[in-house]
Amino acid sequence: MKDYLKVSKLDAQAILLQLRKGNWIDIENQIQRDPHYVYIPLKNTNVSEAIGDHPWVLVSMDPIPSKVKHLPKLAGGAFDLIGDIAITKIRERDRAISLADALAETHPNIRGVFLDKGITGPFRLRDLELLRGEPATITQYRENGLIFRLDVSKVYFSPRLATERMFVSREVREGEKIIDMFAGIGAFSLNIAKMQKASIVAIDSNPDAVQYMKESIALNRLIGHIEPVYGDSLEIIDTLPDADRIIMNLPHESHRYLGKAIEKLHRNGILHYYEILDMKGIEERMEEFRGLGLNIIKKREVHGYSSSLTMYSLTALKTGE
Ligand code: SAM
Repeated sequence: MKDYLKVSKLDAQAILLQLRKGNWIDIENQIQRDPHYVYIPLKNTNVSEAIGDHPWVLVSMDPIPSKVKHLPKLAGGAFDLIGDIAITKIRERDRAISLADALAETHPNIRGVFLDKGITGPFRLRDLELLRGEPATITQYRENGLIFRLDVSKVYFSPRLATERMFVSREVREGEKIIDMFAGIGAFSLNIAKMQKASIVAIDSNPDAVQYMKESIALNRLIGHIEPVYGDSLEIIDTLPDADRIIMNLPHESHRYLGKAIEKLHRNGILHYYEILDMKGIEERMEEFRGLGLNIIKKREVHGYSSSLTMYSLTALKTGE
């Protein structure tokens, strides 16, 4: 038998937060639940100062060994960590909750674990439900030596593209004119600006994304290196000079904007194109690119999207032939 703190389900979140801060929880054993109460295994029972005014009682229970040891297996690719916020797309609720519990137990720095119930709307926003921890959605995320400030519920952001962003920024040469057509919080643009002196216009139609982009530009001391522009790329792009490089990271809709991007690209300019397709779809897209005078330099699988769909990256040179 082991000492557990029995608290009402309603108070559990606040109490867990305090107990985690004070490192009171025995992470070798699982937190247990019934419909009304949460039972928290304790390292020692002298916890009253951590609990405040919430009602509680100590009980003895049979411990259930923690799943902590299985976390790496359970968690492989099962969640994204954006700053101190973890987001999972696991559909089965029980599995999502056990992952959230295991994360909360093993990663005291994670403030909240959210379930991503799908990405919707023109701004590609996540429909998030809090599973464990604090409901706060604003965080700071570090990538390739940069720091980004963002609200995961108000802007689209995926840490899974970090390597891709590094890859693109390494390709850029000094003085290039670049258009980031669907810039979000400016992750591609900031990666490039940190690496190379270029003239970058970063467009997004979500005002929150542009606001966070501006904050991150300032945080990283890159003011003057990127021009953040709020608006629809389709309209803004007509007002800009031709580019040496265009980034199109709107994987469900990039194709709709392809003609416009090609028009805006210098001869010998480079296009970084992202789209979610199946194997037949990507072959057809590559064929179409060749027909449009785009010479494919690289095709890469960025990450899986579903059992049949993959997010592809095509890097193409505009030959104009
Ligand atoms: N490139 C970003 C990154 O690496 O974090 C993520 C881009 S996200 C997949 C697509 C972005 O395109 C969203 O922020 C959305 O608001 C923006 N968007 C969608 N339609 C747009 C349009 N017509 N013009 C400009 N931005 C658009």
